[in-house]
Amino acid sequence: MKPLIAANWKMHKTVAEAEAFCRQIRQMEGQFSGVEVLICPPYTALAAVQKALQGSTIKLGAQNMFWAERGAFTGEIAPSMLRECGVEYVILGHSERRHIFGEDDSLIRKKLAAALSHGLKPILCVGETEEEREEAATERVLEQQLCAALEGLDQGKPGEIVIAYEPVWAIGTGKAAVPADAENAAAWIRQVAARYLPEEDMKALRIQYGGSVTVDNIAEFMALPTIQGALVGGASLEAATFGRLALAAGEAVNR
Ligand code: PEP
Repeated sequence: MKPLIAANWKMHKTVAEAEAFCRQIRQMEGQFSGVEVLICPPYTALAAVQKALQGSTIKLGAQNMFWAERGAFTGEIAPSMLRECGVEYVILGHSERRHIFGEDDSLIRKKLAAALSHGLKPILCVGETEEEREEAATERVLEQQLCAALEGLDQGKPGEIVIAYEPVWAIGTGKAAVPADAENAAAWIRQVAARYLPEEDMKALRIQYGGSVTVDNIAEFMALPTIQGALVGGASLEAATFGRLALAAGEAVNR
């Protein structure tokens, strides 16, 4: 099982900038053999990135989607629309969606089920806020988010779910989690997920760490036995930096 190193560009990059990034990263892709590399551009660049990645091993993902197939949902994007753009993965429940746009566990659960039933591989983000961490509530918060998302899930292939442990206080702050804390959180995530996912799916389950991952700290996270990838925001915006990060991740897992 290769670790999944995912670039979350958030609301960055025009189509032209996205195409330039793809040209550059493709020059390095021969060196990414130890990891699976994924790019999640904004919706407007999905089609262009799909074209720019044709024939490449680099995968395409979206940063969000709605759960309905079609209808009066102004501004939203359906799972089938993502599939049509060649999207394979979709990030769901990112903390910016939860905290800035008010997405709750029940909405995220609907999105997760819709993604699976459309053959999309969801990257389910979970994580505690700084306040929750200070109250020693990390395990309770992770458990609540996971139970709400996974209980009774019978659509598609649950084995294709990726879970990203993203402590909210570490996202975009330059303050990454201490590897031992990330390891413990990922172990807890695995324990909770095992209540809902069959053994076979648990074997395939990848848990990513996300939160101020850089070229300098990626190796520490990839060396952890409970972590199988990273969700990367800021350090994914420049192709040379993200390429070096993916390379360092591959080297760390092959060590
Ligand atoms: C993210 O966007 O999910 C993220 C972890 O961002 P950053 O790497 O910038 O902290």
